[in-house]
This record gives sequence, structure tokens and C-alpha cells, in this order.
Amino acid sequence: MQPRLRFAPSPTGPLHIGGVRTALYNYLLAKNLKGKFIIRIEDTDQSRYVEGAEEYILQSMAWLGIEADEDPNKGGPLGPYRQSERKETYQKYAVELVAKGWAYYAFDSSEDLTNYREKAEKDGERFLYGPLNRKGLNNSLSLSESETQSRIEKGKDFVIRFKTPENKEIVFHDEVRGEITVNTNTLDDKVLYKSDGMPTYHLANVVDDHLMQITHVVRGEEWLPSLALHTLLYQAFEWTPPLFAHLPLLLKPTGKGKLSKRDGEAGGFPVFPLSWNESIGYKEAGYEPEALLNFLGLLGWNPGDDTEEMTLAEMVEKFSLDRVQKSGARFDLEKLNWFNAQTLQKLDPTEIVARYKKRNNNFDAVPESILVAGISLVKERLIKVDDLNDHQYLFQEPHSYDDKAVKKQWKEETPELLQAFLKDLILAPEGSEAVKNAIHDFCEKREIGMGKIMAPLRIALVGSLQGPSVDELINFLGIEAVKQRIAIACEKL
Ligand code: GLU
Repeated sequence: MQPRLRFAPSPTGPLHIGGVRTALYNYLLAKNLKGKFIIRIEDTDQSRYVEGAEEYILQSMAWLGIEADEDPNKGGPLGPYRQSERKETYQKYAVELVAKGWAYYAFDSSEDLTNYREKAEKDGERFLYGPLNRKGLNNSLSLSESETQSRIEKGKDFVIRFKTPENKEIVFHDEVRGEITVNTNTLDDKVLYKSDGMPTYHLANVVDDHLMQITHVVRGEEWLPSLALHTLLYQAFEWTPPLFAHLPLLLKPTGKGKLSKRDGEAGGFPVFPLSWNESIGYKEAGYEPEALLNFLGLLGWNPGDDTEEMTLAEMVEKFSLDRVQKSGARFDLEKLNWFNAQTLQKLDPTEIVARYKKRNNNFDAVPESILVAGISLVKERLIKVDDLNDHQYLFQEPHSYDDKAVKKQWKEETPELLQAFLKDLILAPEGSEAVKNAIHDFCEKREIGMGKIMAPLRIALVGSLQGPSVDELINFLGIEAVKQRIAIACEKL
């Protein structure tokens, strides 16, 4: 059987970064097993449907480069891939379960259900509509067949509920957590289908996984409590279940508790891949998709050695479920920054220029070749492409000088020293090595420490004590620009 994995988001809002990780792991495993990666939109809950969310999810995948083999736009052999377009499919399966004795019609009004819930709460209990009490409730198990039939024919609202077997230990397997046992008396009879013609998540999800021949279900830990029901549904339909793997939680940067949207706001980091209303995403914050993928790849999985930097293809090659961890994974923005910096270091400077220009127009007038040469000088210092804006001195004269640096390093004799050095520099051959020698020889000749000339040179060229090595910088700027910047600094300081 060909491995087929799906990412099955509900379009109820923007995709949380945890959802991106789920999509990524599905993709990695699908590709590692030489199978297909499918995106299925689970939009049966009309009340939670949010306009634009589906588009947002697909655009996020496109930005990250997680390409599906089958999805709602692309189509595929087992589509459609949007559950609202498969509406007709589900009724038959719900009715089949009723016929087999695995489900029943229920007519309880929402007021009645609320009352039961409130009463249970008052007694410090939780109301479960399930094996222990369903016979006393308003459904086809307590009503006669003819009464049930007549209610349905009269068009009374109903739901179809799953008939959980009474007091059975069911054992199921999760690839991450191992064997799990649940007593069915702790489960409730979940609604599978509603008389408005819409299935609930549980029915649609299981039916579609079967019809779409899904072999592995990889999803967030929050779905683990549904696994008992899903296992029973596969039994009821007499279908072979897929393998299940529930991914560990993403934890707050402190390591305590589940990562939430509010942590992002408090910690000043995005929790969405792309912007959504007022919340900016990782893309807008200036992160590279390769870095985000690498970072997320290691949030809950490791390749078995201490390799950290991996391309998507390398992660595909190394991925396996047996190295997905059970415990939560701490979300550490510093680590993402590190991955982003590493990603930039591996990119060709022309590519960095292209990515920078997509987001910034500060250096539009600077010729491409100069931008490329400038970036090569400061590449190791960039965390994000936008950080190139901190190196404006590469392409423009400094428009201000750092006060503290000037006070400390710019002396009476500095202008004279710089002018004298300039004369030597003009005579020096090209290349940063030659510049380095010129500085060295000058200091020896004058019997002064290197700092005496290096620091003021840097102030004149950069405006502060930051930047790459002075010899590389001089070599990059060229003698004319150096001359000019020294002249301006001597005049202004
Ligand atoms: N639609 C569910 C979600 O939004 C899918 C869960 C699953 O993968 O089964 O996460």
C-alpha cells in the first residue's frame, strides 16, 4: 500500500505555529516513505467557519515550500479535498452505523442537555451522554421504533450518536505514546451526524481518512482523547485503521505550559506563519522559511545525532516517528534566530540581496554588484535580511557619529594622524592584506599602538565602533570614499 498522509486543518482562523509543525511532520514522513502528502480542509463546522482561513492556510504552506500532492485547489484522484464538497458522502455512513447497531438517533433538545450538564456540575460531576445513562434519555434506544420513525418523518431535529459499547477495555496503539487502554464507560456517545445534513468532525474525519486511503494519521496531542472513539469507529465500519501518532505539545518559552497566542504577544514573537489581521506572522517579521522549517522540525523530533542544521530534503531523509518525543517541546525564539542566521550564511549573497529587496528599499540606488560585495562583508553578522539596514555605512557615508565612541577615541591629534595615514594608504597596493600592512607599518613608523589609528578610522568610516574589520572595509569602500569620509569626519568632529 502506498503511504498516504494528510494534514487536515479546519478553516476556523489563522494557522497556529503548532499546526505548521503538524503539517511539516506529515510532509516529512510522507516523503520519507516515498508516499503522498495531502491537504484536506475540514470545514464541516459551519459555526466556526472563518472567511479567508482556507486561503491563509494554503498560502502559508506555499510560503514555507510544503507542497502537497493533492489538495483542494490541485485536486487529485480521491477528492474533493474540502469536506463541505463531500457533504453527500457522510449520511450514508451514519445511517450504516445505525443499521449495524453502532449508532442511534437522539432527539434531546439543547435546553435539556444544558440542564443535565448544569445539574451534574452542581453535584460536582460531569455529564456524559453515554452507555450508563442513554437508555433514560430521549433517543431511539428508549423510544419505540415507530415513535422514532414518525419523529424523523415529521422532520423533527435529530442527531445520530455513536453507541459506545458498555464497560469494555479498549486497547489501542499510538506510535509516539505506545499502548493506551481506555474503559468505554468513561466515553460519551459523540454526535456523528446532524439533521441539517452535516457530519461532525469525528465522522467526517474517519470516513475521509478511509476513503482517501490514509495510512498514517499524524496530528497534535489535543486529538489523543478522540483516539478511543476513532478506534471504535474503525471497528464499527470493519475498516483497517491507519497508524496513529500524536505529536507533543509546543511549550511556552519558559518551558511551563502550552504555547498560546498570548505568549507571542507578551514575548514579542509571532505565533502565526503569515500575518492575520493585526498579528504579524513570521514572514512579515523577516524570517526565512527554510529557518522556520528547520526550527520546527526539531521541536519534538531529532535525527538521532546532534545534527541541527538541515534543509527540508535532509529532514525528509532522516525523519522517522520513533524519534518523535513524548514530552512537550519548548519554543525558544533565540534558537529560531540562530537558525535564521545560519540560513543566511549559507545563502549566496545575490540571493540575500534579492530577499532583502523584496522587503526593503533603502539601497535601491546602490548597484547590485556593490550590494553583493557589501553583504559578503557582513553576512555573518546578519540575523535577518533586514539587519542589513544596520550596515548602511557600507553604501552611504555615516550621517551621524556615535557620541560615546567619539569622546573616547577621537583625540586632538587624530585628524593629523588620519591625514598622514591616508598618504601612506594611497601608495599601498590593492587588497585588504595590503591595507592591513599599511596600517601596521604606519603604526610602527609613528611608534603608536594600532588602536590609535584603528578606532578613529572606524569612527570616520562607519560612524561608530561597529562593523567588519577596518582593512576589509577600506578595501571595499575604495580609496576615494575613504578619503572623503576621513575629510568629513575631520571637519565635523
Ligand atoms: N480538523 C482537525 C484539526 O483542525 C484535524 C485533526 C486530525 O488531524 O484528525 O486539527
